[in-house]
Amino acid sequence: MSKISVDTARLPLLLNELRLPAIGRLWQDIAARADKEGWPAIRFLSALAELEVAERARRRIERHLVEARLPPGKTLDSFDFNAVPMLSKAHVLALASGDTWLSKGANLLLFGPPGSGKSHIAAALGRTLVENGYRVLFARTTDIVQRLQAERQSLQLAPAIAKLDRFDLLLLDDISYVSKDQAETSVLFELIAARYERRSLMITANQPFGDWSKVFPDPAMTVAAIDRLVHHATIFEMNVESYRRRTAIARKPKSDQHTAKATA
Ligand code: ADP
Ligand code: MG
Repeated sequence: MSKISVDTARLPLLLNELRLPAIGRLWQDIAARADKEGWPAIRFLSALAELEVAERARRRIERHLVEARLPPGKTLDSFDFNAVPMLSKAHVLALASGDTWLSKGANLLLFGPPGSGKSHIAAALGRTLVENGYRVLFARTTDIVQRLQAERQSLQLAPAIAKLDRFDLLLLDDISYVSKDQAETSVLFELIAARYERRSLMITANQPFGDWSKVFPDPAMTVAAIDRLVHHATIFEMNVESYRRRTAIARKPKSDQHTAKATA
């Protein structure tokens, strides 16, 4: 049998040309193992293909985490569910798996006073969904309204809204902070109407609907917007005292003790 010579120096170039970086990095180790253990060729090839695919998935998630613009450090692990007894952890974890709600374009509405943990749980859900393969964008509602207003001015509102379709979920934080002059252009209504029953929205607000009159240009549009938002929605009401305030109070006795010791 004639010995077939393989140009191993050329292999890295070929793998680079084919954009297979994981295989490029790992083929030597895998090849050594395959030779040692006498793998059939199909097993060797499959192992390499699996590595490349896994690496691609990992890099895709990394990119999606960057584009999601989630506030750092807000995870489900660091959320204390005991602090919000009316929030079912099991329900939140079910939503975090993405299951069926995102494919139906259903919404999630989070209500609660400042500091109750709305932004934290929203960001944590967003992060977990990205890790589960979904695309998410987290934005302060006033920021996204401002951006869409600029697009409207240059007659690009519809394409700008269509571009947001690439996100399975848009998290609009603090919808009730939209100011009166921002509301007048109705870009937010158009965003809500465009995503209705197609693409999901997660919205946080300090007040459930009561003070939404200034978010939209007129009462009819306010009703129409709320109608679309709640039609297929899960609503969490987080009526708890500010977590910041509570933790500040919880820390207090310690510092009192400290002062007492220091002055003793
Ligand atoms: P909201 O958006 O409702 O005003 P935040 O989510 O910004 O409140 O919460 C205020 C601060 O308290 C944040 O630093 C957040 O991480 C923290 N926090 C709120 N609720 C919880 C909780 N249940 N467990 C852990 N940290 C929390
Ligand atoms: Mg918030």
